[in-house]
Amino acid sequence: MNNEVLKDFSYGVYVVSTVCGERPTGCIVNAIMQVTYDTVAISVHHDNFTNKCIKDSGKFAVSILGVDVGENIIPVFGFKSGRDINKFENIDTINVKGLDIISDSVGYVVCDVTDTLDTETHTIFLGKILEGELLKDQIPMTYAYYHAVKKGISPKNAPTYQEVVSKAKEAYRCKVCGYIYEGDLTKEPDTYVCPICKQPKSVFEKIK
Ligand code: FE
Repeated sequence: MNNEVLKDFSYGVYVVSTVCGERPTGCIVNAIMQVTYDTVAISVHHDNFTNKCIKDSGKFAVSILGVDVGENIIPVFGFKSGRDINKFENIDTINVKGLDIISDSVGYVVCDVTDTLDTETHTIFLGKILEGELLKDQIPMTYAYYHAVKKGISPKNAPTYQEVVSKAKEAYRCKVCGYIYEGDLTKEPDTYVCPICKQPKSVFEKIK
């Protein structure tokens, strides 16, 4: 099996939001597609807090991120858990049908869950679209753009996760997001933060 072939599937980068009781929560999801004229399918890992909250509330929203999305969105929604923090605390949102939508997005859809399929690792939710709107005039971010241009990586819970390997002689891995720093990290100032998840230098481990 050549895992490289899987990189040729196309995906976007989205924030899926839902509610935990009264509190909004959500996470980055890349495996989302429109499957019929009024239905989308999304895939969320069992370990993501958002998964349980979608099952409990029966609803979710998808905010479509653009290439110019503010740099706080992916670190907060991709690499932190809604179990620990309210991810929406310092984020500009609009509320549609009780769900928080990222204002800094290309557009959104709001869905009611109509069906679920549990695989060994992920739940695939089918959502009937209740409402949708365009917000910002930006180019939607593809997952390929996120990797190639933004130098982004995937958390272990992403369906598309693949371990990053480095050919550099010396390298460090961010234990939060998996980003690989190539070279001598000790030469960076103490104020250095991971470019992907914005965690401090102390979360890096030397891998070679
Ligand atoms: Fe990181």
